[in-house]
Amino acid sequence: MSPVLLFDFDSTLIQDEGLDILFQRSLRDAPDREERVRAFQELTDQGMAGELRFEDSLARRLEHLVAHRSLVEEVGAELASRLSPSVERNRGFFRERAERHGIHVLSGGFRELIEPAATTLGIPPSRIHAHRFRYAADGAVLGLDPETPLARGGKPLAVEEMGLDPAKTWMVGDGATDLEVRELGLVSTFVAFAENRTRSSVTSRADQVVHSMEELLELLSNHS
Ligand SMILES: [Mg+2]
Repeated sequence: MSPVLLFDFDSTLIQDEGLDILFQRSLRDAPDREERVRAFQELTDQGMAGELRFEDSLARRLEHLVAHRSLVEEVGAELASRLSPSVERNRGFFRERAERHGIHVLSGGFRELIEPAATTLGIPPSRIHAHRFRYAADGAVLGLDPETPLARGGKPLAVEEMGLDPAKTWMVGDGATDLEVRELGLVSTFVAFAENRTRSSVTSRADQVVHSMEELLELLSNHS
């Protein structure tokens, strides 16, 4: 029996961290752009490596973000063209598997930045589990929607609310929050996806480490 696959989004399905890209674009004309981008990315890295609680890392990043809904949509569309190379090569696998309800996206990022990329892989909005932005009436980003499972309890709560059988579910991702889902027993297997980023704090505790989708497909074919 083929497991259901929960894919992380940032630095897994796509090459970059979506919120970093949004932040960079939001500073288009700022004179101190480079310095501010570097500080922002540092917060991202600390959150992903588990050095800073992910929620704290995200909250601190959002304090620095000044963006409008139109920019969020623009960056979402841009991210759809930045799929990881091996994900791009294996679109057929995603489309076929998504059709059989075998793929979810589980992300500490934002739904608005994920949907366009997920759509190109055949993954519908109902199988994206992520944060959502809150907007002011004029479209300015205010922060995150506190009502999503991600905001209420991070990836672990989101997985619990999916109601999947842990024995038949795998998590694939590059970050500490992906590993955590496995360590809490919510999935049977954590596959560290090292095509874009390798963090030893994560790979050293993974059940498997792959460097491409081809290696993941091989694991799956040996499994079934
Ligand atoms: Mg990631």
